[in-house]
Amino acid sequence: MAFLLYLPQKMNLKELIRQLAHEVGFELVGFTHPSPPPHLETYLNWVAQGRHAGMAYLATSRAQELRADPARILPGVQSILVVGMRYFNPARHSTPPTPLHGKVAAYAWGKDYHEIILERLEQIAHRIKTLNGAPLTYRAYTDTGPILERDITMQAGLGWIGKNTCLISPRHGSYFLLGVLFVDLKIDPDPPFTTDQCGKCRRCIEACPTHCILPDRTIDSSRCISYLTIENKGSIPADLRPALGNQVFGCDICQQVCPWNLCFGKLDGSPHLAPHPEQPFPHLPTELLLTPQQFKEKYQATPLLRSKRRGFLRNLAVALGNTRDPQSIPALLTCLNHEEEPLVRAHVAWALGQIGTPLALKGLHEALQQERDPAVLDEIRAAIQSAQSG
Ligand code: SF4
Ligand code: SF4
Repeated sequence: MAFLLYLPQKMNLKELIRQLAHEVGFELVGFTHPSPPPHLETYLNWVAQGRHAGMAYLATSRAQELRADPARILPGVQSILVVGMRYFNPARHSTPPTPLHGKVAAYAWGKDYHEIILERLEQIAHRIKTLNGAPLTYRAYTDTGPILERDITMQAGLGWIGKNTCLISPRHGSYFLLGVLFVDLKIDPDPPFTTDQCGKCRRCIEACPTHCILPDRTIDSSRCISYLTIENKGSIPADLRPALGNQVFGCDICQQVCPWNLCFGKLDGSPHLAPHPEQPFPHLPTELLLTPQQFKEKYQATPLLRSKRRGFLRNLAVALGNTRDPQSIPALLTCLNHEEEPLVRAHVAWALGQIGTPLALKGLHEALQQERDPAVLDEIRAAIQSAQSG
């Protein structure tokens, strides 16, 4: 027997779905209808100004058409379930054990969330089918769908888009990952969230190490540490490397300073996203020497695979350069002389130039004689110059 014949039964189904979503691990649950996203213009301007940097998939006309109208995502879609799963608060492990340990953004401390969230959205879809006693057409996304996820979340009443561009829940702060389920089933929407609770605060804008938060609540991705260390597949611009500090995968800074996280961000997240012991703070010199096989084994099924080994080792090299710690010279020299990826060798050369001791300089001069890649040679020469002038 279908549930949807009478209004009270419809409301029951909605509350059953909400309860089910809580049971499978989502603390935030809301419902909305497909409608034009309120910040479509902002997104189109952001793309037009090239603020999406190397993420070309965000700028195709298809990507823009789909984002303009969520109803195009799934023919016949009538409702959207929006869920959020809390991850561990970066304050839970805020200080690396030693200066030679790097920092990973807190959402990436555990298993790959895509699988975890999509699996649970699938479970919900199957339960809706059973409860409703009718076929269901649906589509589930987390993070990767051609949709303006934060707009949809705001419309589902779960929070507002802060100046740091994160979706902020007044009850939970912003340390959560979002998932959406499009369904061809009519469910009463929740009231949208309409207030901006940032007020006069500017803490995130002032704390951002690369000054990439823009006044229209977008980010200049080409300067954002999250982009530079994850999505960026090439070199990290030399003028931005010092601002990365010890961040080796993503960045939590604009969330960590937010009063909504300081006041309401619980320390523990969902057990499904529990941190792996070493993942928050990788030991920089050790991980710089991970072979392709070791990297794969260590980080399989975690978000860190996203940067690929070459991107991750590039980030480790920058973090080591920023420590200026001579203890890391042996690992850097081994990497400079034996690493196959030119991208990594180039950033290792920069790191040795930052450390600038006679031993680092000697290694750079020796590498200058052996190196064949033009981009790495340029980095070695620049590093020698920097070490000599510093
Ligand atoms: Fe700035 Fe880091 Fe936030 Fe990017 S993630 S906007 S670099 S504070
Ligand atoms: Fe808004 Fe302040 Fe949080 Fe930035 S730090 S998102 S301005 S409340």
